[in-house]
Amino acid sequence: MTVQRPIKSVSDLVSAGLATDTAGLDAVAAKYAIGITPHMAGLIDRDDPDDPIARQFVPDVAELVTTPEERADPIGDLSHSPVEGIVHRYPDRVLLKAVHVCPVYCRFCFRREMVGPQGLGTLTGAELDAAIGYIAAHEEIWEVILTGGDPLVLSPRRLREIMARLAEIEHVRIVRFHTRVPVVEPERVDEDMVAALKASGKVTYLAVHANHPREFTGAARKAMARLADGGIVLISQSVLLKGVNDDVETLASLMKAFVENRVKPYYLHHPDLAPGTGHFRVSIEEGQALVRALRGRISGLAQPTYVLDIPGGHGKADIGAASIAGGDGCFTVRDWQGGEHRYTPSGGGD
Ligand code: SF4
Repeated sequence: MTVQRPIKSVSDLVSAGLATDTAGLDAVAAKYAIGITPHMAGLIDRDDPDDPIARQFVPDVAELVTTPEERADPIGDLSHSPVEGIVHRYPDRVLLKAVHVCPVYCRFCFRREMVGPQGLGTLTGAELDAAIGYIAAHEEIWEVILTGGDPLVLSPRRLREIMARLAEIEHVRIVRFHTRVPVVEPERVDEDMVAALKASGKVTYLAVHANHPREFTGAARKAMARLADGGIVLISQSVLLKGVNDDVETLASLMKAFVENRVKPYYLHHPDLAPGTGHFRVSIEEGQALVRALRGRISGLAQPTYVLDIPGGHGKADIGAASIAGGDGCFTVRDWQGGEHRYTPSGGGD
């Protein structure tokens, strides 16, 4: 079925053939925004009740179940926000959250309490001035990460304005965007948009968020090619999600698809403790087994780092299974199949 307009409500889901039993969905919609672009709606296999694209975007009554450990601000943004729109968690970099709107609303979103029509909205002119003033006043800030929401929902004109202001700040060397747009609304990434993401004297990185190899449509591949050809360095981010990509074949295909499109695999996130997302969570042990299996399946070039955002705002930790243990000159090293080998740097191994 071809969908012409963005899906934003339960009735839109029904019209698009993406929901029949709507019991409970109005209650989900009252809590969390709904958003599916025509491009992604067209990718959903309506005959597959377990379709991994639908699972990411079509609301589910399971979202009404909140467990005690889940929290509205799972990665602790608010405790590190000195001014509206800025999160300053690590000394050398800040998040700049200019907008809390997205072209799609992912059902597992870690900022689901902040994004959407009922979320924190877009920074006012005065708030943006204060946020950029904060960056200018802190010489230790080397990198500015535009996230949100999705910064690529802003028009090229607005993005050019922000980039021009960052270009004037000498100590900022790197600007990084985190976005789902190249995959979910690839037609937005035209030459004008690519040019708007660059600033004189700065290097632009862009983290493409994709979770399943089917998201690499022809249009998405062209959008990534336009970005790479335009001189933007591409890295990936994905979330490990039950029922979407929690098997080694899917993860291997996903990481290879990134590399084939000039996107260096960067982060594989363990799902955060966002409210109503328990049905997406795998255990850390399952995640570690998957990343270990990936080691034997795909090139080192295609390996992501498996990370957990420590609840409470304590930052990211690499949680890939440690493959070395021991000390005093004698180590046990685990290979990708789980086999253990002795390694003694002074005397060789087995
Ligand atoms: S695009 Fe990112 S910020 Fe927006 S809903 Fe999805 S995960 Fe959340």
